Amino acid sequence: MTIPGDVPPLDDNGVVSTATGTPGTDLQLGVQTDGSRPGREGPGYLSPSSAGTFRQCQRRWEYRYIDRRPDPPGIPALVGTFVHRVLEELLHMPPVDRNVEVAKKLARAVWPEVQEHDAYIAMKLDDDAGRRVRWSAWRLIEAYFAMEDPATVEVVQREQRVKCELDGVPFVGIVDRIEKLDDQLIVTDYKTGRAPTQRYESDRLRQVLLYAAGLDAIGQRPHSARLMYIGSGSIETDVTEEAMAEVRVELANTWSTLRTAVDGGEFPPTVGPLCNWCPYSADCAEGTAEIERRYGPAA
Ligand code: SF4
Repeated sequence: MTIPGDVPPLDDNGVVSTATGTPGTDLQLGVQTDGSRPGREGPGYLSPSSAGTFRQCQRRWEYRYIDRRPDPPGIPALVGTFVHRVLEELLHMPPVDRNVEVAKKLARAVWPEVQEHDAYIAMKLDDDAGRRVRWSAWRLIEAYFAMEDPATVEVVQREQRVKCELDGVPFVGIVDRIEKLDDQLIVTDYKTGRAPTQRYESDRLRQVLLYAAGLDAIGQRPHSARLMYIGSGSIETDVTEEAMAEVRVELANTWSTLRTAVDGGEFPPTVGPLCNWCPYSADCAEGTAEIERRYGPAA
């Protein structure tokens, strides 16, 4: 249940979240556990979005990562996926070809992929709705060109999968972009939602700092980590030893708590304002009660 006019939260990949994770960024490699609920699988790896969901609400994490409920489809997520794909292809072009006209051609070439996406099919979008998705995505791509000239970006890697151990935690993530500036590496994650207020900036940057820690672990130490909120600005932080240690410790604590929860088969709910955007609220008595307490009974 979403109250009209409210603003949904963003997932780790910057698209508006309908559940946890974004196609291609949130790998779940299940392993059997020796816990008290045979057949219930825990994750073999931890990704930033999985860790973030677990910290937000263990019940929600259980729905998504144990019960493996699919992400409910949503237009904003589809737009985010489309924009990510176009930017990925654009940054693959020689610098001289990274312009608006080429981006238009790439968008046309990528669009059939989006139409074949499970979410697109599940939503049964008609031609008008499909056009609205394309236009929403294109406005963001135009906004991207207003933020930087892609011809000046010295790309080192795009969509790099990082798999490593961080303080004993098996970690997996996919980094949108690694570039070189003045001989130093910058790790960037694209976001298609709104940039956070200053109060939440450091919290949001933790995700990209985890990517930086992962890259550091495989010998590619970035100098800075950036979240590029397309159309509303970038936020950036230096990648220091202290910053990486902090996010590694947080990840290890999450992993330890998560394994205990999986072994015990207990995933308590954490109610709060985010219940209103939880895709599983209809099945969660505590979450439903919290939404009604805040907003009144459903119409
Ligand atoms: S509705 Fe709230 S308490 Fe229930 S699973 Fe979702 S986030 Fe957790």
